[in-house]
Amino acid sequence: MSRHPAHLDVDSDHPGLAQVRQRIAVAATEAGRRPADVTLIAVSKTFEAPAVEPVIEAGQRVFGENRVQESKLKWPELKSRYGGIELHLIGPLQTNKAADAVALFDCIQTLDREKLARVLADEIQRQGRSPELFVEINSGEEEQKAGIRPGEAERFIASCRDTYGLAISGLMCIPPADEEPALHFALIETIARRNGVTKLSMGMSADFETAIRFGATHVRVGSAIFGERAKKLA
Ligand SMILES: *Cc1c(COP(=O)(O)O)cnc(C)c1O
Repeated sequence: MSRHPAHLDVDSDHPGLAQVRQRIAVAATEAGRRPADVTLIAVSKTFEAPAVEPVIEAGQRVFGENRVQESKLKWPELKSRYGGIELHLIGPLQTNKAADAVALFDCIQTLDREKLARVLADEIQRQGRSPELFVEINSGEEEQKAGIRPGEAERFIASCRDTYGLAISGLMCIPPADEEPALHFALIETIARRNGVTKLSMGMSADFETAIRFGATHVRVGSAIFGERAKKLA
């Protein structure tokens, strides 16, 4: 491979990771953005430590998980062996797991309701630990999907900030599987801009290049790095 941009400092012998990094660099450059302004979150859900370690050893430090319980079993040990790991929670968070989530994660991307905002605010105060917080937007207004509806976003973000004193730094979305993702990414970017939110977590294996074109600062990529998951999880 000859086109690794030097500033990414790719020391990777993990082909999936190297390919995704290169695709991110190309997409960013084509969009007139700096590749370094797009953070790759390697989504390691369902993969056990032995599959994750080669990716860490290839230089990746930012990882995403969708279950608190699975993360508690997998990551403390990996974190103790490798420095600089940054963990993002990208799956639904129940209030009874909020304490664990605040203790383990560096960023919680799925803040999606008032009660969770209240419980997180309490936990953050109690533990003296402040993970970054992203609000999840249900951009497709899908009945079965978590997230704040676009029309409620402004009020919810304001309430998180003013009522609970939470610093909201990003938005996250998972567009409907059967729709053109670009429309959803554009909507999320607009909501973010209007509400003084600077980070956009959008784009997965199938559409991260499009997301980068629409301003994604964080892309969440699983199968393109790790291969197909044994069991399809949301
Ligand atoms: C699993 C998952 C991803 C990664 O999906 P891939 O298609 O494997 O890249 C991204 N975001 C969320 C919220 C997920 O649950």
